[in-house]
Amino acid sequence: MNVPQMFGENVFNDAVQKETLPKEVYKALRATIESGKQLDVSIAGTVAAAMKDWAVSKGATHYTHWFQPLTGLTAEKHDSFIEPEGDRVIMRLTGKSLIVGESDASSFPSGGSRSTFMARGYTAWDPTSPAFVKEGTLYIPTVFVSYTGETLDKKSPLLRSMNAIDKQAKRILKLFGINCKKVSTTVGPEQEYFIISKEMYDRRKDLRLTGRTLIGAPVSRGQELEDHYFGVLKPAIAEFMADLDKELWSYGIPSKTKHNEVAPAQHEMAPVFSTTNTAVDMNMLTMEIMRKVAKKHGLICLLHEKPFRGINGSGKHNNWSMSTDNGFNLLDPGPAPEKNTLFKLILAAVVKAVDDYQGILRASVATAGNDHRLGANEAPPAIISVYLGDHLGALVDSIVKGEDFVTDKTSLEGSIGVPESPIFPKDATDRNRTSPFAFTGNKFEFRMLGSQANVSDPNIVLNTIVADAFEQFADELEGKKDIESAANAICERELKAHYRIIYNLDGYGPEWEPEAAKRGLLNYKNTADAVPVCFEDKNIQVFVRQGVYTKAEAIARANIQLENYTKIINIEALTLLEMAKQDIIPAVSDYVASLCSNVAAKQAVNDSIPCNTERDLIMKLAGYNDELSSLIGKLEDVLGGIVMEEVISASQAMAHSVIPLMEQMRTVIDSMEKITAADYWPYPSYFDLLYSV
Ligand code: ADP
Ligand code: MG
Repeated sequence: MNVPQMFGENVFNDAVQKETLPKEVYKALRATIESGKQLDVSIAGTVAAAMKDWAVSKGATHYTHWFQPLTGLTAEKHDSFIEPEGDRVIMRLTGKSLIVGESDASSFPSGGSRSTFMARGYTAWDPTSPAFVKEGTLYIPTVFVSYTGETLDKKSPLLRSMNAIDKQAKRILKLFGINCKKVSTTVGPEQEYFIISKEMYDRRKDLRLTGRTLIGAPVSRGQELEDHYFGVLKPAIAEFMADLDKELWSYGIPSKTKHNEVAPAQHEMAPVFSTTNTAVDMNMLTMEIMRKVAKKHGLICLLHEKPFRGINGSGKHNNWSMSTDNGFNLLDPGPAPEKNTLFKLILAAVVKAVDDYQGILRASVATAGNDHRLGANEAPPAIISVYLGDHLGALVDSIVKGEDFVTDKTSLEGSIGVPESPIFPKDATDRNRTSPFAFTGNKFEFRMLGSQANVSDPNIVLNTIVADAFEQFADELEGKKDIESAANAICERELKAHYRIIYNLDGYGPEWEPEAAKRGLLNYKNTADAVPVCFEDKNIQVFVRQGVYTKAEAIARANIQLENYTKIINIEALTLLEMAKQDIIPAVSDYVASLCSNVAAKQAVNDSIPCNTERDLIMKLAGYNDELSSLIGKLEDVLGGIVMEEVISASQAMAHSVIPLMEQMRTVIDSMEKITAADYWPYPSYFDLLYSV
């Protein structure tokens, strides 16, 4: 395989554009892509024709406007290129069909922001993310808005938030004598996932309907030996990963790192970072391709945040930074951050933004699935804090305490302790794996995202709140004579004011939760409790100020998030009820019946044959079945009383009544599984699921 040759072969990328477009058109398109210049509509016809010719040469017969509605998934509707001419057809894509598409918006969630009689939705081309050909269709990345201009997708607010950063960051840079055309945010999303056997998966109703196991007794060997992380890849997994890379590369997705993760059957893929909207599109495509390639190998890729209890869940690390079109990374501390006022100011802006808007940052990653990774029993607490590492941490301490900063340069050189070994340069920050928001050298790594998340959500918030802090700083600094000292004064003031959000110790340790409470940091344990902060005026106004959401849009989105959560828990509860009633109770009852006949048979032979084992099992299992029946009744009653349309009360009921009842049912069921003969148990066990590949 010639990787450089096949990389991006399915993408209408820069090289193809250059080759297929007239020079002037190419230049105009690149100006839009690279410096955010408004698209010159007159070039659309030429671009469309070239795109179509290229796509047809790749075997495409259709095109689709590809968008990301508020379901969090991607959506596509395919139109063929054909246009009748007499009794023949020609293949055609007009400029208009490239730029805008119309689509009935009424079947996509809108959170009440749009009445159904105004159901027109428009998809509009996003030229900054490249089009590609997949399975005979040309995919054109688009945004999705309503007739009245309200955003109906995840992409348009993301682009708006990137715009906000661009505008405000340039003001800050200008004050320090740096001019550039554009500041973009960049993201590298590390993607975790599980791979299991399709045969086992097919026999688990819960996995198929909800993406996670609702029941399942723990396996005797979990992750305690810590032998899976970075372990040797099993042949079937290695083959899958090789195929995956090949597919990803063909779509221009720069898949770079792959390895086994901590939990059995868990793996990770990390791409090289790119501009945020492209990174989002690529991540959506990556998840889809992972599922598809796994199926081709007789495997199933699970992207749920917590497919299995008792072992690690899956997340997505959102590595985030900002850089100029000429390659300057705004989060690069340089060799002497203490003397780098611009860097300190940017750092202060991020720290301030994260502290001021912890609530919406937390809410941006809140989903039913992610609740199992954040704040629940086995997970780290869902408290937002910032980790800066020893070096920057000491710098910030010195600023806050008004002390001189003393660097210890030798601490930045490492050695493995034998004289022959080279001295290697150490990163300025150690890895703190327990921090939700960690500075890692020249970027921040936001680690609270769930594995299935559309990465737009947290990036919309991050970009917006940082742009807002930049705006405040720029307002204050512009017109000042001595920018350096004014900026240093802002750093000192803001770092003092937001010092509470910085935590450089173990975020998983038991001391952190009470300490965070003392500091007044937010700690929302589930989606139902986290999302309502989005209705607070302060949290709406920041989006309005930065031109990312109108008030109505912000409220609609929070409503959709709660609605989505409520629907998911409802599906999980109904699935669990069905499994319990149709499979588990009958199976256990059959097993009890067979134990009873064994006892009867033994007694018939000779009543001195011991039957204590059977009797004991019969008593226990029959008891569990009764207990389960009574919990089923309770759960059905609670579900029956929930009015799904009332999102606040419904989501509260799901979190605080339905989930605890499901937990109780699970405890009973898992106890039954442990003592029921394997032949009778209706589902593959955790062992079957985790160790069959
Ligand atoms: P780790 O496993 O230590 O967290 P990885 O190397 O797996 O690190 O992933 C780091 C991710 O950060 C990669 O996707 C990488 O491309 C990305 N990254 C590096 N620099 C930047 C940057 N300036 N902006 C955004 N992401 C970045
Ligand atoms: Mg990471």
